[in-house]
Amino acid sequence: MDKFVALNSELYRYVLDHCSPRPQVLEDLAAETANRLGPLSVMQISPEQGAFMSLLVRLMGARNAIEVGTFTGYSALCVAMALPDDGKLICCDINEEWTSIAQRYWERAGVASKIELRLGPAIETLKSLKEEESFDFAFVDADKENYPLYYEEILRRLRPNGVILFDNVLWLGAVADPAITDPDTVTLRQLNDRLARDPRVEVVMLPVADGLTLARKR
Ligand code: SAM
Ligand code: CA
Repeated sequence: MDKFVALNSELYRYVLDHCSPRPQVLEDLAAETANRLGPLSVMQISPEQGAFMSLLVRLMGARNAIEVGTFTGYSALCVAMALPDDGKLICCDINEEWTSIAQRYWERAGVASKIELRLGPAIETLKSLKEEESFDFAFVDADKENYPLYYEEILRRLRPNGVILFDNVLWLGAVADPAITDPDTVTLRQLNDRLARDPRVEVVMLPVADGLTLARKR
């Protein structure tokens, strides 16, 4: 039997209401993103996903993290607040306007010193990382066509038992509909297939928000 509970808005509210209270700085960042960027704010991760990522970073005792796709900085803030004082998060994005909002909130939350923002195509940033750079935790949430490249570049720098999170792996359900064949959907579908069979990682796909895959390096 299928074992899941389909969400509706009421049940989703209930889920949000039964997570620890969201820090005010995250509330304010979500509000400013929505007010300033309107429909673009759908790119921001959801509150329970942010809470989950913070908890995971804390549980892992992660110290070195990397994010591909920062936007106005919500997911980065969730990760950075959960890192120890000497932790470090590298944020990759191409958009100066959006990440300038991010930087204001990172300052306000007192985590700016833990975050290094690298503006430019993420694949170039990843390839330019020092050979000895290694990560405990990675979050991939940028241009979908480059997910497979981001995966390989990050995996080689991930420590054993480190985790990569891929966002939007359900692509609003399109990945499970073979009739949908646009390039983003095909890339995500192929990556999902490949990850599930990749002996280098242990993978779980969670139906959180638009789908979140966790890949632990063996
Ligand atoms: N994680 C963010 C959050 O929690 O608010 C949302 C990220 S948003 C879905 C995707 C971001 O990827 C955008 O800010 C966009 O500028 C960035 N992006 C798109 N293509 C990129 C590329 N080639 N290299 C780096 N960043 C890119
Ligand atoms: Ca996303």
